Amino acid sequence: MKLLVTGGAGYIGSVCAARLVESGHEVTVLDDLSTGHADAVPDGCRFVQADVGDVAGSLLAEGFDGVLHFAAKSLVGESMQDPSKYWHGNVITSVRLLDAMREHGVPRLVFSSTAATYGEPESSPIPETALTRPTNTYGATKLAIDLAISGYAAAHGLAAVSLRYFNVAGAHGRFGERHTVETHLIPIVLQVALGRRQQVQMYGDDWPTEDGTCVRDYIHVTDLADAHLLALEHATAGEHQVYNLGNGTGFSVRQVIDACREVTGHPIPAEVAGRRAGDPATLVASSERARVELGWKPSTLDLATIVRDAWEFTRSRQA
Ligand code: UDP
Repeated sequence: MKLLVTGGAGYIGSVCAARLVESGHEVTVLDDLSTGHADAVPDGCRFVQADVGDVAGSLLAEGFDGVLHFAAKSLVGESMQDPSKYWHGNVITSVRLLDAMREHGVPRLVFSSTAATYGEPESSPIPETALTRPTNTYGATKLAIDLAISGYAAAHGLAAVSLRYFNVAGAHGRFGERHTVETHLIPIVLQVALGRRQQVQMYGDDWPTEDGTCVRDYIHVTDLADAHLLALEHATAGEHQVYNLGNGTGFSVRQVIDACREVTGHPIPAEVAGRRAGDPATLVASSERARVELGWKPSTLDLATIVRDAWEFTRSRQA
């Protein structure tokens, strides 16, 4: 298929673009490099550096079989301080993309949604039927886009799939996580192991979990990327399908730090800090629907393996 990958110079977008090229697709990456890196665009992709909202129309006029839409603003804290950046950057841009797809008859869309659309869950693991009550602007904008996609699918026959990611981690060869502003747990802990930070702060140890720290569902980025390939195959005209992607097992912040100690051999000092605003205690996915309907089966369930891949990537960047 001839595919447009927005945000293909970012962490998840670059891994997906690499898997798409490996699978024989013709890929154009569209990224403004506001947070991505030009050298993360996989070999074999055509690269266009521009804003999605500005050029979607002219690019899609060339004729494409589908769009994988990763480009987004994705920092929860920033979204609370600067909501305009998120409503414009995520929602307005995505509506422009949807309009351009409609205008030029692009039939398929796979969208990067998020567990943040659910907010504080009522039960665990979280199915796709759970209530969507986002607790932050980032999650609200992703939910708004999901709702827009449903409308375009129903009205205009778009074949659409939204994938709601839980905690994506690990690396796919030379493609991995390197944000200028790093807020995610595993990369931060690995920075301590590299000597680039003194210690890691654990945001709260008084949560209603077994060891008092927050529990999350960590999924390997390669498994996540493979779900996108399956989503492309299974997308059905006029339907908007939604799938949660996680491993279905929760690990606490302490367990993640322990796994990083084991993998890196570094003592990784950790201190307890205050809770971070907007953090739910536990977020674990039920990915039953993706397994049954897409035939998706994550191959890396072991946290140490996920951490090891992230560590190898992080060290290779230092070399
Ligand atoms: N976390 C932490 N210290 C950090 C960064 C994150 O204790 O320096 C915790 C955070 O509160 C959450 C978990 O680690 O419970 C995962 O956070 P991350 O930002 O990686 O992903 P999120 O679950 O927010 O998408």
